[in-house]
Amino acid sequence: MQIGVLLLPSYCEKLYLWLVPTPPPGTPDSPRGAIQRMKYAIFGDIHANLEAFQAVLEDAAQQGCTDRVCVGDIVGYGANPRECIAMIKEMGCPVVKGNHDEEAVLETSLEGLNPLARQAMEWTRAQLDPDDRAFLKSLKLVRQVRDFTIVHATLDTPGSWTYVTNKFDAMASFSYQFTQLCFYGHTHTPRIYVKGDSVEPVEFMNVRLEMGRKYFVNIGSTGQPRDGDWRSAYAIYDVANQEVTIRRVEYDIQTAQDKIIDAGLPEMLAHRLSLGK
Ligand code: ZN
Repeated sequence: MQIGVLLLPSYCEKLYLWLVPTPPPGTPDSPRGAIQRMKYAIFGDIHANLEAFQAVLEDAAQQGCTDRVCVGDIVGYGANPRECIAMIKEMGCPVVKGNHDEEAVLETSLEGLNPLARQAMEWTRAQLDPDDRAFLKSLKLVRQVRDFTIVHATLDTPGSWTYVTNKFDAMASFSYQFTQLCFYGHTHTPRIYVKGDSVEPVEFMNVRLEMGRKYFVNIGSTGQPRDGDWRSAYAIYDVANQEVTIRRVEYDIQTAQDKIIDAGLPEMLAHRLSLGK
């Protein structure tokens, strides 16, 4: 019964919740209770930073998150691509493909990439085994999870890896957003665009969803933030309160940096983690 309810589109779900009487307090397994207790931890751009990923998952558990979702770029740049893939597989959480996940399984030349990214990608490709590659290859570009959508870069051209950096980019994506809420990453900078009568960016750490508006939420990066704050970023979507919150989490950055250098990856990749750039 509960599974059937969870698969319903959001408007059906709202109708269902309206029709079903509120159960007495302390009824833990009612459909209404199960839906409203859901609290999603949404993370992405992990970039093989195991220490950051573990810290985010620990924080999400402490915050009472019931579900986990990944918006892609599990690998690339950091020293633990296989471990991060294994953790995602183990969790079995919904995940979409990022550009680094795609690049890691291609056999094409890396000449188009900047030297740092190229060196890191050559190293990453050499680490992955056939199962890792098959997993990354199987990922979809866009997915709907419950009543929200996830994509790595943008909904209008998800396979082109365009960066959403202003409201005009966001407007293009909104044209293809059929849920009230969509989470994405790619720029490594937390940001929310709200579509009401117009589309506007909002610098935020916390937002309450309002009927009649749509939200395109960049959750920031777990493994390589680029907004000047070195701490990992991820989002919590609290279904009962219709609220999205960005969390920042400290992690063992020294170990992550040492591993990058020990692996023979460019030192700049270790250094930039401290800068949050
Ligand atoms: Zn990325």
